[in-house]
Amino acid sequence: MWKIKKNLIEDVIQSAKNYYPKEFLCFLSGDKEAKEINEIVLIPTLNGDDYSSVNTYNIPIDNTILGSLHSHPNGSTFPSTADKKFFKRYLINVIIGLDTNNTIINVFDDKSNKLDIELID
Ligand SMILES: [Zn+2]
Repeated sequence: MWKIKKNLIEDVIQSAKNYYPKEFLCFLSGDKEAKEINEIVLIPTLNGDDYSSVNTYNIPIDNTILGSLHSHPNGSTFPSTADKKFFKRYLINVIIGLDTNNTIINVFDDKSNKLDIELID
């Protein structure tokens, strides 16, 4: 099971809330063998735009990047068609569904199947 640092998730939830009602997008890096995500990789120019239109040439070629994370300001955590295509690049993909009342997190693998994660300190 993939492990994600609890304070990292708290940080990205806060960032996603700061961007609300825009979409927030960042990338996740960590230790592939330990299946542990321990760092957020921010690409500031991408955040706030509809990320399905992200220019992939701007995404750093960095093999420590294992995952993606983005928010859905409509509160849904279902991956869109564009999301599913994008998710194929990464082992772990987090969607934060945000609306005015709730914050829901769902995690998917590269085939857009739901993944269980463990939050660690
Ligand atoms: Zn999406």
